[in-house]
Amino acid sequence: MNPDRIHVIPLGDFREHEASLSCWCHPVADDDEPGLIVHRAMDGREAFESGERLPS
Ligand SMILES: [Zn+2]
Repeated sequence: MNPDRIHVIPLGDFREHEASLSCWCHPVADDDEPGLIVHRAMDGREAFESGERLPS
């Protein structure tokens, strides 16, 4: 893992994410925060913050 990058990973996703750019979800750097690597949830959720979300 690159310590300069923060990975935003959706918790409780169907499949575990790797805190790496080679994760299966093809994470991308955030437009506003280049140091922020945003992972996509398998169920299409994208509205999450800092790896946390409210229980549904
Ligand atoms: Zn991922």
